[in-house]
Amino acid sequence: MTKIALAIHGGCGVMPENSMTPEEWEGARRDLGAALRAGYALLKAGGSAINAVEAAVVVMENSPHFNAGHGAALNENGVHELDASIMDGATLEAGAISASHAIRNPVKAARLLMEDGRAVYMTGPAADRFAEEKGLPVEPQSYFTTQKRVDALQAMKRHAAAGTEGTENEKHGTVGAVALDAAGHLAAATSTGGYTNKPDGRVGDSPVIGAGTYARDGVCAVSGTGKGEFFIRYVVGHEIASRMAYLKQDIATATDGLINHDLAPHQIGAGLVALDAEGVVAAPYNTPGMFRGWVTPEGKAFVATHEEVFEVEL
Ligand code: ASP
Repeated sequence: MTKIALAIHGGCGVMPENSMTPEEWEGARRDLGAALRAGYALLKAGGSAINAVEAAVVVMENSPHFNAGHGAALNENGVHELDASIMDGATLEAGAISASHAIRNPVKAARLLMEDGRAVYMTGPAADRFAEEKGLPVEPQSYFTTQKRVDALQAMKRHAAAGTEGTENEKHGTVGAVALDAAGHLAAATSTGGYTNKPDGRVGDSPVIGAGTYARDGVCAVSGTGKGEFFIRYVVGHEIASRMAYLKQDIATATDGLINHDLAPHQIGAGLVALDAEGVVAAPYNTPGMFRGWVTPEGKAFVATHEEVFEVEL
């Protein structure tokens, strides 16, 4: 029996204070707390890490405050294309779906694909059909759309026309979770709408096993957020696991190396949550903020958006 641990993120970015109302900041923190509770309740009852990360991610997919599921970003055509993945560190089994137009909870489809076992990746209309055949709810595009995402797309189109840069939170976001269960197994899951105004058909790092999502028992579990192209090029999740396994780096050193040294010079926003095999949490980010939360080994839960950390009830 080992410690149990859980950490989540709801995306990183510039996240200026005035980009959301006080009620929205409060709502985002409340939903982070709800995601922690959903995952932690399972772990506490002896449930598996893979169930815990799925449950935590589902809560954030259902929240309008994060860029995944309901409230996902719109691509250049004003369409939601959703990516998600999940990985079981015990078996290295994984499932990932990309460019879904309709799956209400993409992480659930990734989980079912992992269990199905015939493929690790499934994309586009076939992924939507797979989910529907498995009995998962599918939705019209309007289910995923919020006014905030419509405004963000218009803002990004204006920036593109004027040749100016949009703020990070007009572009980014993702949700993810990592967990360690009482049996010592690690798991990770990530879900995203990608970035606002992304090209039609573009697939980011979130569904790419080894890049935006990775878990391996005895080493670490990682879920990333930030400009996915760089997470793919640096194979961030697997790179962190490799540095820990081969260079014997601890989780703080390995994650800091990727986020603040390797990725930082590219001037892209990047962050992640990670756990080592003992349940030690790392949550580095190189932007002013990252929606995040974690539970300590003593069972205390915390959420944060910027520097200030709030304790929440479990
Ligand atoms: N990593 C996501 C992607 O590139 C977006 C983000 O986390 O900001 O699709």
